[in-house]
Amino acid sequence: NWAGSQPPLLRFLHECYTDFLPETGGAVADYIPELGKADPAHFGISLATLDGHVYEVGDTRVPFTIQSMSKPFVFALALDTLGAERVESVIGVEPSGDPFNSIRLNAENHPFNPMVNAGAIACSGLIHAAKGDGAFEYVRHALGRFAGRELGVDEAVYASESATGDRNRAIGYLLRTNGVITDNVPAVLDVYFRQCAILVTARDIAVMAATLANHGVNPLTGEQVVTPYAIARTLSVMTSSGMYDYAGEWIYRVGIPAKSGVGGGILAALPARLGLGSYSPKLDKHGNSVRGIKVCESLSAHYDLHMLNRA
Ligand code: GLU
Repeated sequence: NWAGSQPPLLRFLHECYTDFLPETGGAVADYIPELGKADPAHFGISLATLDGHVYEVGDTRVPFTIQSMSKPFVFALALDTLGAERVESVIGVEPSGDPFNSIRLNAENHPFNPMVNAGAIACSGLIHAAKGDGAFEYVRHALGRFAGRELGVDEAVYASESATGDRNRAIGYLLRTNGVITDNVPAVLDVYFRQCAILVTARDIAVMAATLANHGVNPLTGEQVVTPYAIARTLSVMTSSGMYDYAGEWIYRVGIPAKSGVGGGILAALPARLGLGSYSPKLDKHGNSVRGIKVCESLSAHYDLHMLNRA
């Protein structure tokens, strides 16, 4: 019984921490120069249950940038803000089979899905179309409601990506010429770069994931942050496309909807069960945190959490 296993759960997370701390494989992302300054020693694991318990081991209060883990939340927000029909008319839901930063669009000249950069930039564009200059603050506040606290921005990482993010700019212009983005491209990219630079901790990510797992109700604040419709669709695209080019292996082996970011975070949300947040900046060749993957694999195996293996 999951709920009855809480003290052993904390022991288990401690075991994961000590088992995987010596793991030094992978490399810190540095294509955004400022990300290269992350301390590779940092390792934090947090797990939030739907009754509002938050377990924490290691560096769970160290802030880092959310990066692509913002994508599911902004997609959910776009669904609720603009209506599913509008969002689904310009962003697909098929796995792309391409890297996250691919410039290739689907046969309709739309992004393949909201978990790759093209789809995420399209979501930022939709929010910008609805909220104008207030778009970023709208996103920041919404992500704060998922986390149960106000979230800030790493200005240095934002400036670093803004100065070097020409590939994402190219995607923005491609989206505009195909009518996916209708607003000013630099303004949309500014929302996207800022949303990627939002600062979170492993604990925040666990609570945000638990909110996804809890039909959109934050288990700490009790607030319904987005609709159950938006949550179910967001978890669907996380399931098929959340873990870069490892998404198929991931859902086969671990079986928990998840999203990772190049900052070193992994967010995993098991519906009706739990939210997990991990932070460790060294990434494998797919762009997923090396230690974070091991934690998730281990958690899934130990507690038999594969979502397609439920009684
Ligand atoms: N801001 C990053 C980019 O667009 C996010 C990438 C990621 O975390 O996958 O390149």
